[in-house]
Amino acid sequence: MSNIEIDKLFVANTYARFNVEIQSGKGSYLYSPEGKEYIDMGSGIGVTAFGIADDVWNNAVIEQLGKVQHTSNLYYTQPCAFLAKELCERTGFKKVFFGNSGAEANECAIKVARKYGEINKGKDFYTIITLKNSFHGRTITTLSATGQDKFHESFNPLTSGFVYATANDIDSVKTLVESNNVCAIMLECVQGEGGVIALEQDFIKGVKEICDKEDILLIVDEVQTGNGRTGKLYAYMHYGIQPDIVSTAKGLGGGLPIGCCMMNQKTESVLSFGDHGSTFGGNPVCCAGALSVLKRIDQKLLDEVNVKSEYIFNELSGAKGVESVSGKGLMIGIKTVRPAKEVLSECMENGVLCLSAKDKVRLLPALNIPMDALKKAVSVIKTACEKI
Ligand SMILES: *Cc1c(COP(=O)(O)O)cnc(C)c1O
Repeated sequence: MSNIEIDKLFVANTYARFNVEIQSGKGSYLYSPEGKEYIDMGSGIGVTAFGIADDVWNNAVIEQLGKVQHTSNLYYTQPCAFLAKELCERTGFKKVFFGNSGAEANECAIKVARKYGEINKGKDFYTIITLKNSFHGRTITTLSATGQDKFHESFNPLTSGFVYATANDIDSVKTLVESNNVCAIMLECVQGEGGVIALEQDFIKGVKEICDKEDILLIVDEVQTGNGRTGKLYAYMHYGIQPDIVSTAKGLGGGLPIGCCMMNQKTESVLSFGDHGSTFGGNPVCCAGALSVLKRIDQKLLDEVNVKSEYIFNELSGAKGVESVSGKGLMIGIKTVRPAKEVLSECMENGVLCLSAKDKVRLLPALNIPMDALKKAVSVIKTACEKI
């Protein structure tokens, strides 16, 4: 039996996988067992921030593997401490909690928000406003936070206490604040799974003003947008606001599982001993990899991200078969005339792996994708879009 056949027999049917097996890779190139080469325009789903088998990341991880691969959270380790310090120093947040995924980072944010509400506003102030068309994860609570009905079907009852406002409609937020006892508002600055849609500056500023006025926490979900993806270290930095809590994951680990919830001066002391935890959280190998990722996201790299972003926008905006291009930095959505699915499979045949988000083709290449690989990939994508 082939590996694909074995997987189909024994792995739960939760993923509609493409008929492609990846055996190895280097940088922005992936290889199948038959030796077919693909340019990687997805980097997992925005996870392998510096590509596959990147030397710097590999060395950081392997060096830590040779020392200690895990301790419990009963003991201190250097990578966990150093990563927390780097995150705080780069953002102004005061404390971080480490988990293993985006959903877990959001679970932590939600727990902090609820306890903050209870302490500061009263036991009834547990409602969290999220946005329609958002995505916050697959656990029962983060599903509940996700403002898309299709994810809720079959899993009711979900965690209560979530209500959904309309993105870019500040009055819909105000109405929900007036009619609920709200402890937090949670949003993605660029909705990823929702179709790579950047929220408007005025809307995010308006939400922040409401939060400040009503003593409501602002939680920004940077699981996908974080760690250089949008051309700033975190996407909220485009908007001139400082959230109370930021969750992040995906690109932070560079390929190993890590999630992180960052808390500011208002929220750093909400959780106390025993309130939260995670067996694998703060794993030294994951943290060593993440620290190496974070240290390389400097202004020079971000400038390159923005140059490559501009290249993609310029090439594809107004191109034949392209209705619109959206997103920020190297988080890009392409609304194509052809169904996105068809574009994806044609690109795949021609050696380029893209992602989709709703009805769009989604691109999340490695932040350091070489310009020649990017040019080749964009040309293949353009050709696939043209065939209407
Ligand atoms: C991917 C994603 C999540 C969930 O992350 P997991 O690691 O799959 O749990 C949450 N929020 C956003 C915005 C995401 O893109």
